[in-house]
Amino acid sequence: MRKPFICGNWKMYKTIAEAVSFIAEAKPLVAGASGVEIGIGAPATALKALADAAKGTNIQIGGENCHWEKEGAFTGEIAPGMLVEAGCSFVIIGHSERRQYFAETNETVNKRVRAALANGLTVIMCCGETLGEREAGKMRAVVADHVKNGLAGLSAADMAKIVIAYEPVWAIGTGKTATPEQAQEVHAIIRGILAEMFGKNVADATRIQYGGSVKPENVKEIMAQPDVDGALVGGASLKADSFAKLVNFGA
Ligand code: PEP
Repeated sequence: MRKPFICGNWKMYKTIAEAVSFIAEAKPLVAGASGVEIGIGAPATALKALADAAKGTNIQIGGENCHWEKEGAFTGEIAPGMLVEAGCSFVIIGHSERRQYFAETNETVNKRVRAALANGLTVIMCCGETLGEREAGKMRAVVADHVKNGLAGLSAADMAKIVIAYEPVWAIGTGKTATPEQAQEVHAIIRGILAEMFGKNVADATRIQYGGSVKPENVKEIMAQPDVDGALVGGASLKADSFAKLVNFGA
């Protein structure tokens, strides 16, 4: 009932030319993956060219952040409507790198989420604890804080366009993956929080991706967990053949 969603997060990698040639290479490799939703989150400069190159394929393009205002004096920011105009169908919001390096808070995450939804974008909202928080026994509290405050004020209907990405900070870009059991434990906790907030039907229908050093070698066992509905992938999404292996995890 929940269609798996495999999404790349390219972070600050790839020129326009590199992005377009990725699509040319990936297109035939993922064309047969009908049971999976496929996305690439990319730097703003490449979005329009990527969306044009991906037209007519099963690959969706998304931004890696967006502001909550329609326009204004916000140097360096990008409005949700601008992402839509560039051909994006989704946006990643609240990634731990945004929280860690760019002072993103639950409050700004929530504003960005609402603005993205108002512009018709699907939102991948990230949450996850640091190693210190996990070791201090705060994993549950941190994840609940991110999810509850990030989704504050949303309706059950809004949740149709929300995807949650659970990304333990200690597993991002470190090569250290959460075990499938650790991922499942937190995903079940998140689904419980969604049930409290929006009811069981919404919780059961919402996709929860895992992110943190997912690669072709471990994607299958992570995806086999009952509450894992996809993956948000940084490093292993940068090469077309590796990305295609992730997308085709079930083949
Ligand atoms: C990410 O950027 O969201 C991520 C999970 O990165 P990586 O796959 O490289 O750990």
